[in-house]
Amino acid sequence: MIMRIGFIGLGQMGHAMATNLVEAGHEVTVWNRSPDKADALVERGATRAATPAEAAQGDVVMTMLADDAALEAVVYGDAGIFGAPAVHVSHSTISVALAERLTADQDGAGGYVAAPVFGRPPAAAAAMLFVVAAGRADLIARCEPALDAISQRVFRVGETPSAANLVKLSGNFMIMAAVEAMAEAMTLAEKGGVEPALLLEVLTGTLFNAPVYKTYGEMLVEHRFTPAGFAAPLGLKDMNLVDTVAGRLRTPMPLLGVVRRDRAGGGRCRLVGGGRRRPAQRRALTPPLARLSVA
Ligand code: NAP
Repeated sequence: MIMRIGFIGLGQMGHAMATNLVEAGHEVTVWNRSPDKADALVERGATRAATPAEAAQGDVVMTMLADDAALEAVVYGDAGIFGAPAVHVSHSTISVALAERLTADQDGAGGYVAAPVFGRPPAAAAAMLFVVAAGRADLIARCEPALDAISQRVFRVGETPSAANLVKLSGNFMIMAAVEAMAEAMTLAEKGGVEPALLLEVLTGTLFNAPVYKTYGEMLVEHRFTPAGFAAPLGLKDMNLVDTVAGRLRTPMPLLGVVRRDRAGGGRCRLVGGGRRRPAQRRALTPPLARLSVA
């Protein structure tokens, strides 16, 4: 079924997602704060909207923006999508609190579905994202053709939209904790004379045979930190969101403090164990975690 879809936010993720919607044959109207990022999509057949509101007049308007502030600007700012007839499908990694506010505010209009995603920009480009959707079942069903065009699987986690954001934030916390653990283990092994690549081969061939260890493990081994698929401020933003909701739900998360500190450090390398560095030890610096693409 061909849908009339608005797409707002053409950053690393959003541009790729909107491209797949166009390729799938949907009628796509795009808006981005920096208008030039829409040029390639318009060349492929998308329509350029002059305002966010103009992009929200169809069946569904999908948003993929940096953070809470960006989404608030697009919804509640000048010519925002607040009260628009389209179902608002929100893919950004945002706070549970904002998801709750958007759900209440969009109730009288088109409705609100939270649909954050797992997968990095290459997965977005290949339409291989995992979508975690929550909201009214009839609204999610209506959005299915659009969600199918950007993903390999849509998980439904209930009728309360903010639950999807809680799942996403929990997942991002676990990714960052896994990366931290791998970086520390690799540093330890390398300082003892074991090549990190060998360690990774053993671990992913035994108990750690999972995409998170394989994907990020290879990046650590190869010191492949640029270009960042996921900018450091976004990673810190996510860990701050986890911290806020953990406080609200009175859930102690001591490990969160460690990964949050790494992100706040802005990607500085640090030597585990200290001491005078010989060349081999210099290579054994823990990698600049803050620059890894981890979502
Ligand atoms: P990005 O490349 O930095 O793009 C951010 C988008 O937000 C751009 O379109 C930007 O517009 C827009 N924006 C920022 N501030 C704005 C404002 N005040 N008003 C209007 N628009 C504003 O980020 P991304 O990597 O695509 O990530 C987008 C979202 O997906 C984030 O919530 C991120 O946490 C989440 N996510 C990212 C990944 C990943 O691996 N990258 C994976 C899963 C989820 P301009 O072009 O004008 O700057």
